[in-house]
Amino acid sequence: MTKMQKPLYFSFFPRKCLSCGKLIDYKAYYCDSCRAQMPFIGEERCEQCGCGREHCRCKHKSTHYEAVLAPFYYEGGAKRAVIKLKRYPIYAEPLAKECAAVFAQYYGSIPFNFVCPVPMGKKRRRQSGFNHSAALAKEIAAQVGLPVQECLTVVGNAKAQHTLDFCFRAGNVRGIYDIIEDNAVSGKVILLVDDIKTSGATLNECALMLKLGGAKAVYALCVSVAKGQE
Ligand SMILES: [Zn+2]
Ligand SMILES: [Zn+2]
Repeated sequence: MTKMQKPLYFSFFPRKCLSCGKLIDYKAYYCDSCRAQMPFIGEERCEQCGCGREHCRCKHKSTHYEAVLAPFYYEGGAKRAVIKLKRYPIYAEPLAKECAAVFAQYYGSIPFNFVCPVPMGKKRRRQSGFNHSAALAKEIAAQVGLPVQECLTVVGNAKAQHTLDFCFRAGNVRGIYDIIEDNAVSGKVILLVDDIKTSGATLNECALMLKLGGAKAVYALCVSVAKGQE
């Protein structure tokens, strides 16, 4: 047996740390010091807001999704990586790997039928060239061994959520999503994937539509959640 060779690709395009850009080993995603500083969420979590107990401010407000889970808070190196994911699909794989790790820990025993990404409107997809949540969903699905089913679509016009104050976000996304085909979701247990949860309005609206379409349960998985959302 010969020792595993470094793929030729990485000789021409060496791997760089996702956070600081330093050259690193081709199997790693972060340099050692950036990985140590990544804003991982602690073990004790709130299912409703996804934060560690110490940063939960949601008062366990009920949501249309059963739970939300993420490896990171939306800050530091995780925030930089999520911003890059919106432009470069290559970031989907390493971020999906972190998502798959928390999936195994917290969602491993749930009998999911498929993974569904939060959809993106045609205009925004034209601007960015791809739906980063769909790219992420595809990578997560491959890593946790589930199929992907894009069963939501954007039917209305909404402003980008990050341009609005939190108090306007639920109204901004109300009624803008729809189910592509009711048969696909009826009775199903669905893993809903997005890059970030800030106010939670997008996930909640998507989960509501899936439930109205007859979904049995909807669990959300994101790369990062904002700390201390009410
Ligand atoms: Zn680094
Ligand atoms: Zn909470």
